[in-house]
Amino acid sequence: MHFIPEFTQPSHIAGDSIIILFSENNIYLKKESVIYDLPNYKEIDVPISNSFYLGSLVQKPLWVINTPTDDFSWPNNKLEKLTTREAFSVLSNDQVKLIGMAFQLMRWSRNCNFCSNCGEKLILSDQERAKICNHCDKIYYPRINPCIIVSIRKGNQILLARSPRFPKKKFSVIAGFVEIGETLEACVAREIKEEVGISVQNIQYFKSQNWPFPNSLMIAFTADYLSGKVKIDHREIVEANWYTKETLPNLPENCTVAGQLINAFLDSL
Ligand SMILES: [Zn+2]
Repeated sequence: MHFIPEFTQPSHIAGDSIIILFSENNIYLKKESVIYDLPNYKEIDVPISNSFYLGSLVQKPLWVINTPTDDFSWPNNKLEKLTTREAFSVLSNDQVKLIGMAFQLMRWSRNCNFCSNCGEKLILSDQERAKICNHCDKIYYPRINPCIIVSIRKGNQILLARSPRFPKKKFSVIAGFVEIGETLEACVAREIKEEVGISVQNIQYFKSQNWPFPNSLMIAFTADYLSGKVKIDHREIVEANWYTKETLPNLPENCTVAGQLINAFLDSL
């Protein structure tokens, strides 16, 4: 799936354009049998509140459309509405990256419209993914919040924790936002200390993942237990335990970097 970002918007949406169709936090996907895919423009007939061009995907124009209503019909009844988060579980990795980017850009497009310095209306740049104030020359880029996520290993055990935001019995690895002035490694050590009270060593980069709920770049690490007793903060974490392969609780899906961190631990045993 070859995507080339482009910044000069075509004058209209061609019929063969591939469409990422949002309705608030939901997305409409084409469903054939059990396979989900992005629809073409000629396959949808919806009111448009907002649209922007992303570039070309497999040599076809790729547009993001936001529709203000769910009260519309579609020609072949094959569209299905999912939350954008649910779509992450049914699309390919390449499609997940695209809709993640589109989801963040859609909200940026909706929410970033006036210059915070002088109040003028912003215009889209045709040079890069940015908005410009023609009055004071300030440039506005889409905002990304760096966030660390880390698996902690002690021998054949992994530390998994439950946030009060999780469904009951679901556990994951530790995560938290990077603070101003902080390195990623310092953030890993601080978040672990704050949330579960232990110290770690051997902090190693694992991989990263765009996570658009809301605007995070998840930067994943592995670490080894060094010292201390697990002591939860009762605010961001309500339960945390060491688990072996045989005693694992409900885990995040493998489409998340959290799931991939846990699977990498299991593969290493
Ligand atoms: Zn300005």
